[in-house]
Amino acid sequence: MQQVAVLGATGSIGLNTLDVIARHPETYQVFALSAHSNLTLLAKLAEQFRPRQLVVTDTSLDIRDFSQQIASIDTSIGIFQGPEALVDVASASDVDTVMAAIVGAAGLASSLAAAESGKKLLLANKESLVVAGELLMQAVRHSGATLLPIDSEHNAIFQCLPVDYSAGGIEQAGIAKILLTGSGGPFREWPIEELVKVTPEQACAHPNWDMGKKISVDSATMMNKGLEVIEACHLFGITTSQLEVVLHPQSIIHSMVSYVDGSVIAQLGQPDMRTPIAYGLSWPKRIDAGVEPLDFRQIAQLTFDTPDEQRYPCLKLAIEAFEAGGSAAAVLNAANEEAVSAFLANQIGFTQIAEVNEMALNSLENQFGLDIDGLIQQDLRAREFARSRIERIKQ
Ligand code: NDP
Ligand code: MG
Repeated sequence: MQQVAVLGATGSIGLNTLDVIARHPETYQVFALSAHSNLTLLAKLAEQFRPRQLVVTDTSLDIRDFSQQIASIDTSIGIFQGPEALVDVASASDVDTVMAAIVGAAGLASSLAAAESGKKLLLANKESLVVAGELLMQAVRHSGATLLPIDSEHNAIFQCLPVDYSAGGIEQAGIAKILLTGSGGPFREWPIEELVKVTPEQACAHPNWDMGKKISVDSATMMNKGLEVIEACHLFGITTSQLEVVLHPQSIIHSMVSYVDGSVIAQLGQPDMRTPIAYGLSWPKRIDAGVEPLDFRQIAQLTFDTPDEQRYPCLKLAIEAFEAGGSAAAVLNAANEEAVSAFLANQIGFTQIAEVNEMALNSLENQFGLDIDGLIQQDLRAREFARSRIERIKQ
């Protein structure tokens, strides 16, 4: 039995993970579930999966009624509150596998704890790698943890790489380029001058994927692809010049690896996160994920294009931040989290997300060689800066 901790269980990736786990009760057991604020759903999941532990990360919530409700289900379920409890769960000796499915830099400490304690880490929380990619990869190497990417593109690349890839890196594996695909989001064909009018509802309605709100907005600005470029560079030990972003509106090819002999290997599938989640859970084997196979007769066409820098300024900002090194990516990520939540709260417009991000990236001093506490401090400074800009825009 694999004991799994699902961090961010009440979110889109968390629920998809539990859907796959429920199909294989003989192999996976839920050891722990975490939620930030959705106690109603957490109680429902606790009843269904009977974990040993529950974590509620929002410290402002009164959890007395919730605790009573859980006790009426099973008195032996432990309930913990606060973000530190995530770190304890991620490093608990009973846990084999940690699904890191929290949204934003809030997932960093628990991803790092899982990496440091040698777990099998299923990483959906790309922001961990964006903020502290070097430290996280170092922790994986030191502890011997197994890091499996869940982000669909990175999971696809992982599937297209040779099995001995990590031993010798990109050149020895005969790889010419990694081709990271992205749909371009819901506004790919809108006139650029209309983008100022985009509403949160429109931005959250992704044409192919059903995801949490933050990543949906990031997909619409293509900040998501920018974060994924950084994620890929850390995961696969490559530079930005060894990677190319390809627009592919149908989201059928989830990414590709181009080899020096002219071969291109692609991973195809439905836009359904249960496929990469199942691959992460069962790797190197494969298990049923409940996903219908592709019907090629139904796919009218697969098209490709180059992303337009003017339409997607956030993509360029992310690439610049990664190339600058130091704390630049952590700053950009923090500013973006603040800008996206302000956009979702109707405080700033859609195109002002990129403006806030650019100002933060250009205004905060880039710091090099920071440890994890230093990066977290820099994240906090960037949030403060972004919030002050957002306040000015609101007036
Ligand atoms: P959701 O918004 O659907 O879910 C987020 C989860 O994190 C919820 O369980 C939420 O709890 C919890 N959470 C929110 N804020 C905090 C916090 N401050 N501290 C601890 N937990 C918190 O997000 P997604 O599932 O869409 O995304 C999760 C991660 O996976 C992101 O990093 C995203 O980039 C990545 N990802 C997602 C994909 C997708 O298809 N959705 C695809 C590829 C990557 P609650 O709801 O109880 O408040
Ligand atoms: Mg992705």
